[in-house]
Amino acid sequence: MSIATSSRAQTPADYLKRYYGYDRFRPMQEAIIQSIVGGRDTVVLMPTGGGKSVCFQIPALMMPGVTVVVSPLIALMKDQVEALHMNGIPAAFYNSTQTAREQRDIEDDCLRGKLKLLYVSPEKLLTESFFNFLQRANVSLFAIDEAHCISSWGHDFRPEYTQLHVLKSKFPNVPTIALTATADKLTRHDIATQLGMNDPAVFVASFNRTNLSLQVLPGQNRIQQITKLLQQKPDTSGIIYCLSRKSTESLAAKLQEKGFSAAFYHAKMDPGDRSRTQEAFLRDDVRIICATIAFGMGIDKSNVRWVIHYNMPKNIEGFYQEIGRAGRDGAAAQTVLFYSFADVATYKEMLAENSPANLGLQLAKLERMQQYADAHTCRRQILLSYFSEELPEPCGNCDVCRDPRVTFDGTILAQKALSAMIRTGERVPMNLLIDILRGSRSQQVLQGGYDQVKTYGAGRDIRFEDWRNYLHQLINIGVIEVAYDNHYALRRGILADQVLYGGRKIDLVRPDDAPKPVVEKTRTKTETQRDELFEQLRALRKQVADQQNVPAYVIFTDTTLEDMARQRPTTPDALRNVSGVGERKLQLFGKQFLDIIVSYVRGRVQAGEKPKGSTQLTTLELYNQGLSIEEIATERQLTTGSVATHLVQLSKSGYSIDLASLINPNERQEIEKAILTVGMEEGRLKPVFDYLGGRYDYGKLTLVAGLL
Ligand code: ADP
Ligand code: ZN
Repeated sequence: MSIATSSRAQTPADYLKRYYGYDRFRPMQEAIIQSIVGGRDTVVLMPTGGGKSVCFQIPALMMPGVTVVVSPLIALMKDQVEALHMNGIPAAFYNSTQTAREQRDIEDDCLRGKLKLLYVSPEKLLTESFFNFLQRANVSLFAIDEAHCISSWGHDFRPEYTQLHVLKSKFPNVPTIALTATADKLTRHDIATQLGMNDPAVFVASFNRTNLSLQVLPGQNRIQQITKLLQQKPDTSGIIYCLSRKSTESLAAKLQEKGFSAAFYHAKMDPGDRSRTQEAFLRDDVRIICATIAFGMGIDKSNVRWVIHYNMPKNIEGFYQEIGRAGRDGAAAQTVLFYSFADVATYKEMLAENSPANLGLQLAKLERMQQYADAHTCRRQILLSYFSEELPEPCGNCDVCRDPRVTFDGTILAQKALSAMIRTGERVPMNLLIDILRGSRSQQVLQGGYDQVKTYGAGRDIRFEDWRNYLHQLINIGVIEVAYDNHYALRRGILADQVLYGGRKIDLVRPDDAPKPVVEKTRTKTETQRDELFEQLRALRKQVADQQNVPAYVIFTDTTLEDMARQRPTTPDALRNVSGVGERKLQLFGKQFLDIIVSYVRGRVQAGEKPKGSTQLTTLELYNQGLSIEEIATERQLTTGSVATHLVQLSKSGYSIDLASLINPNERQEIEKAILTVGMEEGRLKPVFDYLGGRYDYGKLTLVAGLL
């Protein structure tokens, strides 16, 4: 593969458009690229999906030699390199899975300047022989991906990463860029010092992933709720995180029974099964993965449309990282956390048993997580404040923002429930307790003699269903506990005594405002845009991806397909305007995708529909058949002025229309002069028409004005 160069592609933005097909940089990307190209060591902290890759890939393209990318994820290298090839960027990976012969070929390519990026694992990088090779190669930049692995504070510590400082001593003049999605300050500091960086520029991007919706649902009937959620999202990919290996297996089995394409994944699986499952998910052959948190580190899939937490995570870092695997392509994605106080209790028990050295810290982190789940204020504000980032306004994309809660002082209500519970010996389950509170004369109440307890009927003013709702809220916040081992009797939770005797106040939410376990069908913007055309494009993408033996999102991301379905380009130039269509992909796949769009648009017009821009498209069809402006005007019974306006607009929106060929050069010159002399006030051509004595029709005037 040769390196595509052009005198035009010079600024970083030109590279972005040409190789990736994107029109604009995301926040910070351009400044990071400038910093690196200027030779400065650079540290980048950006959330998953923020767009870290282009931050070192574009410098790699702009600088003369090869960029060496250090990545711990050998399994990912192949996909990353394939994705680069699809964008027309010459790249290779170098690791122990290759034969000596293959490695020599790569070295040769590198030495002959044929590669722009070389991916290598830290183990390989740190060998004597590889250093010797690097000394001969023209290295322009070292990029350290997943740089938090260097820090023993972090959760992915890799001892080999601490050796990477030798790069600086052996190649003092080669700049280094370190990238990570981990936000914490200790790690940030560790990265710069351990790599021996020289006065690095540090970029901390916002951790606000606006395309992720946030939602917390009560943890009852999870399977039922999940089924409903998934029925609303047919054929989309997602991850369900579970606490235990066993529950990943049983949940996957239940979903399969219901006809969903689901599989499970956890660390104790046979490695072969594990990588097969992962591969099937990447290739969209399996849609749903029920997994423990072992799943995800090596997953670079951009079209994960939703992440569900079956159980609450232990802390916000983990939660943030896991939901971050959704929506990396920037399109809307949904995240749902099921929350019940029982999960908190389980963690607390586990912590108490293991009593780790930093027990206090872990409990504090657990509490922050619980605050997120319990919140009656914007959840994104809580999430971001954890990462020391302020969001001045509520986000509008979390369940609390969409459905604001009104709370009231529910302390007395809680006390009534607790008192009835205690007076019946903490032996009755929820429905019976409600009957007692409401003064029911049911057989069960009378037989148990519960009509004799002091709080009998103390809550008769509250409806049965509302009591259920309040009791669930009290369970979720830890005032009441369910004794799963004792016929689901309700008993005192850890906050019970404080509510009864300690003056602790309890805020409750009116049942109408509380998060509802039944998931209502709400179609989000993206779902409605997923129309017929989108589905056709998606089917083609899958077919092309299977042919090329790569994951579907490597061909085009969901955002790109959405944009295509919206813009409905029918020519290569117009397709180029779609975000995510770079030159190489246009060349490789443009025709196939255009064919689908063109026949779709034709079908719609024939069916008598008037899709937006259809009159222009009719003009375009006739133009493509070789008709002149006059002929089109006659055929369509329009003025030449209107037809010319269509063609000028089509050309402006990227359709390949050779305006100049529609008018003879002498006429064009004369009209141009007239326009420049008389001027066109607010685009009006009448004065020009008059100036020329009516010798040229409005069609020609419009054309020349368009060419100007
Ligand atoms: P990270 O490594 O930070 O998790 P990636 O580099 O994989 O993120 O980028 C995530 C997605 O965003 C990819 O699909 C990438 O092509 C896309 N992307 C990156 N930069 C831009 C941009 N400027 N405009 C649109 N999409 C972008
Ligand atoms: Zn919000």
